[in-house]
Amino acid sequence: MSNLETRAVHAGMEGVREQGSHVPSIDLSTTNPLGDVENGGLSYEELATGGSLGEGRSAVYQRLWHPGVARFESALADLEGAEGAVAFASGMAALAATLIATVSAGTPHVVAVRPLYGGSDHVLESGLLGTEVTWTHVDGITSAIRPDTGLVVVETPANPTLELLDLRRVADAAGRVPLLVDNTFATPVLQRPIEHGATLVLHSATKYLGGHGDAMGGVVAGPTKWVERLRRVRALTGGLLHPMGAYLLHRGIRTLPVRVRAQQETAAALAVRLEAHPAVARVRYPGLPGQDPQGLIGRQLAGPGSIIALELAGGYDAACRFTEACRLVTHAVSLGGVDSLVQHPASLTHRPVAAHAKPDGGVVRLSIGLEHLDDLTADLMSALDAAAEPQDLGRSPALAASEPAAAERSASVDAG
Ligand SMILES: *Cc1c(COP(=O)(O)O)cnc(C)c1O
Repeated sequence: MSNLETRAVHAGMEGVREQGSHVPSIDLSTTNPLGDVENGGLSYEELATGGSLGEGRSAVYQRLWHPGVARFESALADLEGAEGAVAFASGMAALAATLIATVSAGTPHVVAVRPLYGGSDHVLESGLLGTEVTWTHVDGITSAIRPDTGLVVVETPANPTLELLDLRRVADAAGRVPLLVDNTFATPVLQRPIEHGATLVLHSATKYLGGHGDAMGGVVAGPTKWVERLRRVRALTGGLLHPMGAYLLHRGIRTLPVRVRAQQETAAALAVRLEAHPAVARVRYPGLPGQDPQGLIGRQLAGPGSIIALELAGGYDAACRFTEACRLVTHAVSLGGVDSLVQHPASLTHRPVAAHAKPDGGVVRLSIGLEHLDDLTADLMSALDAAAEPQDLGRSPALAASEPAAAERSASVDAG
C-alpha cells in the first residue's frame, strides 16, 4: 500500500476482517480481564512504563491501552511516515503531554516561533507546565538554543496568518534539539514534516482529521522513544481519547485526502474572488501570487489548503460586521470540518496572545468546507457588502482595480 489515498482508507484496520467484521468495533470496556496474576502484573508494568500491548498480555485498564485508540494512532503514524503516534483527549492535551515529557527529561527550555495557535502560545507563555520559553524567528533558533533546551516548536502554515516556514531550515537550525511541528492546518495530505527533518508532528485531530466537528482529539506522531515517553505521560496524567472519539477520528482519516483536496479547490477559487471586493484590504492565502516567497508549495507543501485570512479595509469594526453578517458560514471557532466557519482571531482564539504578537483586529479567519463555491461566494460577498465602509462601496471595483495594489492583487492568480 504505497499511495496515500489507499493507506488513508485501510491503515489501522489490521485484524478487523479476521474478526469477521467490516469496520472496527467500539470497545467501551474501562477494564479488561487480566489472566493469571503474574500476567496481569507484567501487563500493567509494560503499559504503565510506555510499552505497547504484547502478545498474550492484557490491556489492563482503558487509561493504559485501548484497541480503538491504537488503531487511530497507527493510521495517523502511517500517513505521517512516523514510527508511531500517541492520541490524547484534545490537541492541547497532546501538547501538554509533550511539554511534560520535555520538562521531566530535565530540559525545560523551549524555543518557539510565533505565530502559534493561541492556546499553544498561552500555555508556553504562562509557563504553567514548568517550561521556560524563548520566542524567536527562524534565523534566531540556533542562537536561542541552550544546554537545557528540550524542544523547538513551530507551526506551518501558521494560525491565523498562514505564513509558511521552511521546515528543512528550521530542522537544521534546531540541530540536536527535537523539533515539534504543529501540522493541524496542512494535514499529512499536504505536508509530512518528518520527511523535512521534524522529530514530532502534532495535530488537533478535532479539525481536519475528524473533519465533521463532532469529535475532539489530539495526536503526536514521532519516533518510538518519544512514543513510549508520551504513552507513559498519558497513562499517568490521563488525558485520554475516548473510544468513541477514536472511532470517529479513525473513520475521518479514511476520507481525509478527498476532503482536504476538495476544500482546497474551493478555497483557492474563493481567495481570488474575495480579493476583488473593495471591503477587503488583503487576502492571506499561500496560493495567491507573492504569498509563498520561499517556493514551499510543491517542495514541502502539496497545496495551500483551505484556510483563508481576510483583512478588512475597515479594521476591527468591519471585521465584526462581516463576521456577524455571514449566514451560510457559521460564526464559530474551530476549522477543518465539512461546513465553513468564520471567526475573529484577535478577540477569540488569539485573545491571550501578547499585544505585540496579536493578529490585527481587522483580520477574520475562514475555514472553507465542502459547500458549493457559488453558495459560499454569495454568502461571503453579501457579508462583505454589509461590512463595507460607505467610502469602500463608493469605489467601483473598476476604480479599485486601477489602484496599483489592487491591480497587483487581481493579477493572474492560479492557486490550484
Ligand atoms: C485547535 C488547534 C489546537 C488545539 O487543539 P484542541 O483539539 O482544540 O485542543 C492546536 N493547534 C492548532 C493549529 C489548532 O488549530
